[in-house]
Amino acid sequence: MLSYIATPLEKKRFLGREIYIKRDDLLHPYFSGNKARKFFSLLAQNLQGKILVSYGGNQSNALMSLSALCEIKDCTLIYFTPPFSEALIQEMKGNFAFAQNTKRVRFVQTSFPQEEALSYHDQNLESVFIPQGGSVELAMKGMRILSDELKVQTCHLNHPVFFYSSGIGTASLALAQYDLDVYTALGAGKMEQLQRYFSPYSKRPNILETVFYTPFGKPHQEIWNIYQEWLKVGVEFDLLYDCPLWINILGNVKKFEERDFVFIHSGGTFGNITQQKRYKSSLKRGR
Ligand SMILES: *Cc1c(COP(=O)(O)O)cnc(C)c1O
Repeated sequence: MLSYIATPLEKKRFLGREIYIKRDDLLHPYFSGNKARKFFSLLAQNLQGKILVSYGGNQSNALMSLSALCEIKDCTLIYFTPPFSEALIQEMKGNFAFAQNTKRVRFVQTSFPQEEALSYHDQNLESVFIPQGGSVELAMKGMRILSDELKVQTCHLNHPVFFYSSGIGTASLALAQYDLDVYTALGAGKMEQLQRYFSPYSKRPNILETVFYTPFGKPHQEIWNIYQEWLKVGVEFDLLYDCPLWINILGNVKKFEERDFVFIHSGGTFGNITQQKRYKSSLKRGR
């Protein structure tokens, strides 16, 4: 069962600077980080015997977190996802393997995951629909708790700046509603998409100037370097979101002189298993 004690805020020394890490990766072995905070409101609901409906990639952190949630809450997930590749089934690794092993996920392979998930939900209104990556509304409850923890833990710090990674931007946007000075960077997609997503809200995360970008999931030597640097300090970050954000933070540090850095770990390190494999083969090829 989940016990919700606040995750620790740890002080680390990194590249000559003091940095506070909000260890959301330690929330729960299989339900942690960004997804756990965003899906937290589902934990409070009675989901026993219910069917959750969602869609997305077959190695996504959302898939893993939702299948872990199904174990915790004794419910099942119908997950609409693009057709499986040979390699995916043969290797049985990472988030996909985790989800399979829970035996609580029914996969529907389709070229139109979103459309089919929506239409399934329309025909089965008792099911619980979860948009890809959640939604700001769904995330608010979890983010309020996160912001309460942060406000207590950082009250002695000097004008703390809070860094939180973005894919679509749901988590950082929801957190910014609670009056923290949140900074994020473009993680996936285009800058205009991220700005458009934030624009209806009067409280928005600040977006760091992009000093580094690689297409989502594409291995890059700089990401690998920062990943290794942090491992030396004893913290593992995920290769898809947090490590690219770190590069962008380091490229913007001058803007934050005199302020204390608080980095909210977004979890997702289970997904590193499959990402590391991509790294090993691509960096060996010299690209
Ligand atoms: C999903 C995810 C993100 C990005 O989340 P958004 O709310 O879509 O911006 C960041 N980090 C990790 C580890 C994730 O799994």
